[in-house]
Amino acid sequence: MKVLVVNCGSSSLKYQLVNMNDESVLAKGLVERIGLEGSILTHQPEGKDKVVINADISNHSIGIKLVIDALTDAKHGVISSMKEISAVGHRVVHGGEKFAGSVLITSAVMKALEDCIEMAPLHNPPNIMGINACTEIMPGVPQVGVFDTAFHQTMPKEAFLYAIPYEAYEKYGVRRYGFHGTSHKYVSERTAELMGKDLSELKIITCHLGNGASIAAVKNGKCIDTSMGFTPLEGLVMGTRSGGIDPAIVPYIMKKENMNADQVDNYLNKKSGVLGVSGVSSDFRDIEDAADKGNERAALALDMFAYRVLKFVGSYAAAMGGVDAIVFTAGLGENSISMREKIGNGFAYLGTGIDPVKNNVRGKAQEISVDGAKVKIFVIPTNEELVIARDTKKICSELA
Ligand code: ADP
Repeated sequence: MKVLVVNCGSSSLKYQLVNMNDESVLAKGLVERIGLEGSILTHQPEGKDKVVINADISNHSIGIKLVIDALTDAKHGVISSMKEISAVGHRVVHGGEKFAGSVLITSAVMKALEDCIEMAPLHNPPNIMGINACTEIMPGVPQVGVFDTAFHQTMPKEAFLYAIPYEAYEKYGVRRYGFHGTSHKYVSERTAELMGKDLSELKIITCHLGNGASIAAVKNGKCIDTSMGFTPLEGLVMGTRSGGIDPAIVPYIMKKENMNADQVDNYLNKKSGVLGVSGVSSDFRDIEDAADKGNERAALALDMFAYRVLKFVGSYAAAMGGVDAIVFTAGLGENSISMREKIGNGFAYLGTGIDPVKNNVRGKAQEISVDGAKVKIFVIPTNEELVIARDTKKICSELA
């Protein structure tokens, strides 16, 4: 069985074709600048050269068509016909409270996704466009939605509610939803595998540290709390997002800077985080370089990032009544040796720490804690596409 995994952004479309017999990736690629000038498809077939196709890609439908053409092309394709694609799995950002797991896409599900647009105006519309494009091009092929929010639906009410009038939750669905759920789920399951233990007996803190960053407390395999909230703005300091701030800062800055609601939203989502503090970049590599060259604000941004992670780890250890493992994943978590070290320096009170030799690793699953540590520390590369492909296969086999 071959599953096409699709992740649509507003102007981009990432894909992977996965052979579910052995979970190997047959091809992957990226369509960029959809609807803009200079749109481009980069297609990487396994074991063959990368292909770059420049074309006028004015919408997601054309993008999907080009992806299918690339996958079935005589030279750089990996399948002989579209009929070999048994199912499509879509990453969907916001499933609201309706979806606690992945689902087969039906017209009722599409309606529910549309109802969530208000809560994820940037993310859900392209996800819906991607599903519609596949329905048009591959009619009859089952499609599955895998939600970023689903894994966090096990949070108890005291963790997911905000202390504002209860009617805001009842009337508008204002609550903590959490994001990156597919990643937190994957790395927590891999941690149990690596520890040779059952997930149901472990307390794990998963740190997804990328441009967007979030932490989850996973107790006995279930998420009991996570740092992102009603939107992906809350929690950790991020590339361009502020993370948690005193909400009173919002009206204050609006008055001082004469901003409207959209402008302050942009200020907190696009101009803040390590970019706003350092004034250098939102990319951690640039900030680490600048800090190494003596830029004090770049160093401060890194310290603030690490400090916030450390505080969340402490609060989640408290929330779970202990912790067995702490996991680093995503771009920064998988690759930044110095950031892991900076955060890990604060773990001594938990009876653990990072071994500098074991920590000298990038993009590979490995335990990095000091010998004899009470709490194990891991680096685990995330693989959201594999989770989407697995869920898609599972749901489609239940159909048969
Ligand atoms: P997202 O999916 O949220 O865009 P990623 O998980 O791809 O983010 O992570 C991107 C971040 O990871 C970037 O800020 C980048 O600087 C950081 N990163 C990637 N490789 C390294 C590295 N070797 N050292 C430090 N940071 C890195």
